[in-house]
Amino acid sequence: MANNNEFLEFNNAMKLYELDIFTLGKMADEIRQKKFGKKVFFNSNRHINPTNECADICKFCGFSAHRKNKNPYTLSQEEIFKEAQKAIEIGALELHIVGAHNPKLDLKWYLELFSNLKAKFPQIHLKALTAAEVNYISKLANKSYQEVLELMAESGVDSMPGGGAEIFDEKIRDYICKGKVDSKTWLDIHGYWHTLGKKSNATMLFGHVESREHRIDHLLRLQKQQEKSGGFNAFIPLVYQKENNFLKVEKFPSGQEILKTLAISRIILENIPHIKAYWATLGMNLAIVAQEFGADDIDGTIQKEAIQSASGSKSANGILKEEIISQIKDAGFIPVERDSLYNEIQTY
Ligand code: SF4
Repeated sequence: MANNNEFLEFNNAMKLYELDIFTLGKMADEIRQKKFGKKVFFNSNRHINPTNECADICKFCGFSAHRKNKNPYTLSQEEIFKEAQKAIEIGALELHIVGAHNPKLDLKWYLELFSNLKAKFPQIHLKALTAAEVNYISKLANKSYQEVLELMAESGVDSMPGGGAEIFDEKIRDYICKGKVDSKTWLDIHGYWHTLGKKSNATMLFGHVESREHRIDHLLRLQKQQEKSGGFNAFIPLVYQKENNFLKVEKFPSGQEILKTLAISRIILENIPHIKAYWATLGMNLAIVAQEFGADDIDGTIQKEAIQSASGSKSANGILKEEIISQIKDAGFIPVERDSLYNEIQTY
């Protein structure tokens, strides 16, 4: 802790976990209702994961090709264009492109991919590259991350996803994903992206070896970054998926602990507009319940997903838009289809 105020802030935030789930839910719901009433946002998107061949070995990862997942792949640009074409034909408005740290895919490859995608499909929103990937690709190209971010923007990337944040605490980070972008650089990359007038999201991977203290520390660091650069659209607390990885986790969080964490995120991150209950890691049922605990978004149709599903999530084939709409309505909320920047497209 840097000073007395930060110490007080941290302790007060920690006390939120001592409240019962209904009190916390009510506090979070008041903020949510003030911002968005009974709206629940979703979008029509498509995840494309160009490669799972990775130079890093994060202990929690079931996606990258390793001895528990012997299925290395790297898509060609032609294959990606075909996937994008199909996705757009069935209604995707956003391509969400994230993958592994593959030394064969350099900066030039990515910039070509983005500008070709934009040339072929000018209407699509390109959400691409986590801050961890930006950091990796910058080092590979021997360029600063600032230069890489500027080139990404010039090549048509519209916004950045929030992955790679994991847990900011340096000791936990070192244990679960040593070698990956450090916490300060993750925040600086998003900060610089925001100075280019662009938006991004932020995540936190929880429910593994971290403690409540580490989660609060993570949320407070994000709150401060948002005060400085202001470009985070949504915060996405990702629940750890337990299959096919090397992290030895003995105790998994209960539904109550997950909902408390979502509610606390809403309370601490009042300066980030949206809290997303990402159905791919929560399951659709809990993602809908989370709307009573501060969340206002469940992500989207996804169509195809390789990262969370590699570790046990039931998200490999996405979900139909009609199913999302019916689940949201059934829970007494108003389904609102949005674009990637939260402009409202249609209310159902
Ligand atoms: S989480 Fe990302 S960087 Fe880490 S091993 Fe998996 S693919 Fe590689």
